[in-house]
Amino acid sequence: MSNAAPSAVDTLPEALRFSSPAPLVDIGANLTHESFAQDLEPTLSRARAAGVDTLIITGTDVEHARQALALSHRYPGLYATAGVHPHDASEWTPEVQAAMAELYRDPLVVAVGECGLDFHRNFSTPQQQEHAFEAQLALAADNGLPLFVHERDAGERMSSILRSWRDDIRHAVVHCFTADRETLHRYLDLDLHIGLTGWICDERRGHHLRELVADIPSHRLMVETDCPYLLPRNLPAKLKGRRHEPALLPWIVREIAHWRNESEAQLAISSAATARRFFALETDLALETDLALDTDRFRPGGGSD
Ligand SMILES: [Zn+2]
Repeated sequence: MSNAAPSAVDTLPEALRFSSPAPLVDIGANLTHESFAQDLEPTLSRARAAGVDTLIITGTDVEHARQALALSHRYPGLYATAGVHPHDASEWTPEVQAAMAELYRDPLVVAVGECGLDFHRNFSTPQQQEHAFEAQLALAADNGLPLFVHERDAGERMSSILRSWRDDIRHAVVHCFTADRETLHRYLDLDLHIGLTGWICDERRGHHLRELVADIPSHRLMVETDCPYLLPRNLPAKLKGRRHEPALLPWIVREIAHWRNESEAQLAISSAATARRFFALETDLALETDLALDTDRFRPGGGSD
């Protein structure tokens, strides 16, 4: 125990102060969650200290999307998504649709979502979910924005809906991918992106992911915490409160890289470059070219994919 109050960056146990070998983009951070209300700035400082310098703040309904956008205007390196989560699909109305269309005018809103299908819990009926999802697909098409998609136990329906929209939408990422190899390849065949979380760090339910993450081409793979949810189960130290945060992303990258048989640096560089292209983030052009070359070199299997 120390008498001095811990500084903002020091509030993580020593063993959890990671440092990414290259800057990372966390493509799914729920920083508008109430658990971050008391210490948002220290959370951002810890993220930066760990090398996680760009965060896509997930907006899951009108209120949270507005909050996510406000944060993006306040802090550099933050961007927002705006959508209605499938759990809340029953609340989709023309008013919500209009509010979303308004949000998409702001250049710091970089994707439509989180939206999609969750037949695991069915908090909204499957019909309500499909209705809200299709409306958001139309908004993505109209606004030329990529989609940030949530799918749980709905792989087949999701693939067939996305297939029918594929020519109209620019890009889509299936975030927090946890399904099987067959579903993965259905998504890759549609030229979709895949977001991976610390689910793979879970020895109880993440095993199947270890065998299939090497199937994902580098230029389709992005990483995310989905914080405050999904704290990795195999962290080298206990975390008081068990709240997940962006500063822990390097640990997840290390784990995914291990199962892909590549270095942490390779995955850090390629996932960040992929995210910058996917969300069309402002970036130095020369740097982007370098990263694109690196990404090609680091593709699993070495050659083309
Ligand atoms: Zn989700």
